[in-house]
Amino acid sequence: MTNRRNFLKGLSALTMGGIASQSLLSCSSPASNKAAETAETAEAAPATKKKIGLQTYSLGQELLKDIPNGLKRLAEMGYSELEIFGYQDATGKFGDYSKDNQTFVSAKDYKKMAEDAGLVISSSHCNPTIWDYAPSNGSKFDEFWKKAVDVHAELGVKYLVQPGLPPVENEDDAKRVTDVFNRAGEIAKKAGIKWGYHNHNMEFVPVPAGSEKPKYEKNPWRSKGTPIEELFINNTDPENVLFELDVYWTVMGQNDPLEWMEKYPNRIKLLHIKDRWELGASGMMNFENIFNMAYKNGVFSFFVELERDRKGRPQFEGVELSAKYLNNASFVK
Ligand code: MG
Repeated sequence: MTNRRNFLKGLSALTMGGIASQSLLSCSSPASNKAAETAETAEAAPATKKKIGLQTYSLGQELLKDIPNGLKRLAEMGYSELEIFGYQDATGKFGDYSKDNQTFVSAKDYKKMAEDAGLVISSSHCNPTIWDYAPSNGSKFDEFWKKAVDVHAELGVKYLVQPGLPPVENEDDAKRVTDVFNRAGEIAKKAGIKWGYHNHNMEFVPVPAGSEKPKYEKNPWRSKGTPIEELFINNTDPENVLFELDVYWTVMGQNDPLEWMEKYPNRIKLLHIKDRWELGASGMMNFENIFNMAYKNGVFSFFVELERDRKGRPQFEGVELSAKYLNNASFVK
């Protein structure tokens, strides 16, 4: 934790509060203080309709228990757009990765349920079932993505996003992976869908050139080489592959989301707006700067995302608090 705290201190000084730890927030980041004040006056603000998206992973099993009514609750909270998850290759239906879950819905039914609730499903997370990116598996990946694209075309999404990092230890591995990404992007494009990749923290680990084996430092983010995320961006065709930057996981990967958005304004076109749990509570994310940059860059959409609450509170609660935070934040249009 010491490393991370020191890192955050250094970075917040460099980026005017682009990332600030909670303790720094009160004394060194006027922009963040303003955001906090905005959040505090939340209750009094008029309900204006903003374009706020949600990644339904945030709700885990809670949404699957009663999808039609759950979706209506989301619309009432102020969400208008969804990015769903849980596409199953075997059935072509949507559910969850959990073995306890028994709910699976077709693209047609999911679309109808969303429309009935006044929501649009504009994006979906989907991982291939193949994890060996050897060139000999190229046709298997094509087959997987062709089927996934067909199902998602029926769902009517604009974006299809892979959220899982394949095994990458060096630049050669990254090249094999991005060859598949480029093909997936081509396949999706034919159906009018934009294909993208979503990061966690490990994409910010630098990896060595060629086929060299990495020598990780105690802190893997200080290893020598090029970050996987950068290799993914530079090895993919901008016409076929976009990037969905998860701003929280970028920070957890000891990087500043603002620096990436500034460096790749034409590649990072979707965002995951995420905090430790509900948005704004930790004080470690400077959402005002992130949103300002997103509007400047013409980001297409953003999706709120929550991990499972460590205190056992209902996920719907955090999802609602997050909608309130954004609805009352003057920096969110
Ligand atoms: Mg995410």
